[in-house]
Amino acid sequence: MSYDPENIFAKILRGEIPCEKIFEDDETLAFMDIMPRSKGHCLVIPKTRCRNMLDATPKQLSACITTVQRVAQAAKTAMGAQGITIQQFNEAAGGQEVLHLHYHIHPRHEGVPMGPAGQMGDFGEIKAHAEKIRAALES
Ligand code: AMP
Repeated sequence: MSYDPENIFAKILRGEIPCEKIFEDDETLAFMDIMPRSKGHCLVIPKTRCRNMLDATPKQLSACITTVQRVAQAAKTAMGAQGITIQQFNEAAGGQEVLHLHYHIHPRHEGVPMGPAGQMGDFGEIKAHAEKIRAALES
């Protein structure tokens, strides 16, 4: 399976389409999901090419997981959540739609189920959640 450089996250990394960025370091980028399934749903991706966890290098995996932990802690605080669900899908049969490795971070509240996939979010609300998460990351 080869990497398609025209996937949407590759375009975000090249700055060809915008994203609501919440964090970046040399190896990873975190930004808000535009079809959030939870309040504060965000994504972590490596800046270098790989389809998913099946072809990622140990360096890509460790960089991503380090950022996932950091952003998850901030998102939990920012959203006043009691827990976090991390999701990660591999290949179409495994539920993956965008073929660039990514981790979903979902702040979770007791008794509140995750929403359905594929429904465009309210951009004002997504921006407000991003601001809270960025603030928590800086504090
Ligand atoms: P999956 O590949 O199934 O793990 O999910 C891909 C995720 O990317 C979905 O949750 C989409 O809502 C999200 N997504 C797709 N396009 C964008 C985009 N331009 N900016 C942010 N999130 C996106």
